Amino acid sequence: MKIVKTIAEVRAEVKQWKKQGLTVGLVPTMGFLHEGHQSLIERAVKENDRVVVSDFVNPTQFGPNEDLASYPRDLERDAKLCEGAGAAILFNPEPEEMYYANKTTSVHMEGLTTELCGKSRPIHFDGVCSVVSKLFNIVTPDRAYFGQKDAQQLAVIKRMVRDLNFDIEIVGCPIIREADGLAKSSRNTYLSEAERKAAVILSQSLKVGRELIENGEKDAAKVKAAMIAKLETESLARIDYVEVVDAENIVLVDTITENTLIAMAVYIGNTRLIDNTIIEA
Ligand code: AMP
Repeated sequence: MKIVKTIAEVRAEVKQWKKQGLTVGLVPTMGFLHEGHQSLIERAVKENDRVVVSDFVNPTQFGPNEDLASYPRDLERDAKLCEGAGAAILFNPEPEEMYYANKTTSVHMEGLTTELCGKSRPIHFDGVCSVVSKLFNIVTPDRAYFGQKDAQQLAVIKRMVRDLNFDIEIVGCPIIREADGLAKSSRNTYLSEAERKAAVILSQSLKVGRELIENGEKDAAKVKAAMIAKLETESLARIDYVEVVDAENIVLVDTITENTLIAMAVYIGNTRLIDNTIIEA
C-alpha cells in the first residue's frame, strides 16, 4: 500500500488502474481509524479491484468553536489498518494541497440540512459536500462507501450525487458498535473513564425507542419523549437533539413509518456524540 500526499500522484495511479480496466472504490475518512472505518474498507475491497482511503481532517466542515485543532490523528496506525484491510492507497493530503488559498467555489446543500446536525452545525454539510466532491473528482471512483453512523451525511451525499450527476454508486454500511452498544467513533477517545461508561446511554435510549415502536407505537412525539426521559437518567449527558425524521429527506415526521430515522446528538461532558437507528419495514 502507498501513502500518497498529492492529488497528482493519486490521479496518476488511478489512471493506470483504469487503463487496465480495474474498478476503484473510495472510502472517505478523517483518520484515527477504528473498526467502523475498517468495515467500510473491507467492503470496498470485496467489491472493487482497487481501494483508495482518504485520511483528511477537513477544516471546512468544522465550525469556529469545534474540535478541528484537537481532532485525534495517528497516520502510522491508520496506515497499518488500511494495509491490513487491503487498501491500495492511503491519500493523506495537507490542507494546502486540498484547498487553494484563494478558492471561491464550494458546494451548497439545501433542504436536507435544516434538521439534526445541519441545525446544530450550520456550515458542516457544505464543507462535507465540497470536500467529498473534490475527492470524487480526484479519485473518480466507481463506488464510494459511507457509514450509516452519519445517517444525515449519507442522505446528503446520495442527494448530492443525484443532483450533480456524479457517476458513482454510493454504498451505505451498517453502524459498528462496541460490546456495550456505544457506536465506534474517533471522538470516543476524548471520553474519560466515567464518561465512556455514561456514553452507553445513547444506544440505550435508541433501544427504548425501538422497543416502543416494535410494540406498535407510531406516535413520533411519544417515542421521542421516552428516549429523552431515558437520556435524562444520565447526569453526564446533555442533549443537543433527539429527532424523528424521514430517512431520505431528513424532515420531521409525526408518524413512524418503515423509512423513519431516529437520530440523536448528545454531549457527554464536552464530547458531542451522535447515534441513530432506522426503522425498517
Ligand atoms: P469519519 O472519519 O468519522 O469522518 O468517518 C468516515 C466514514 O466512516 C463515514 O462514512 C462514517 O459514517 C463511517 N463511520 C464512522 N464510524 C462508524 C461506525 N461506528 N460504523 C460504521 N461506519 C462508521
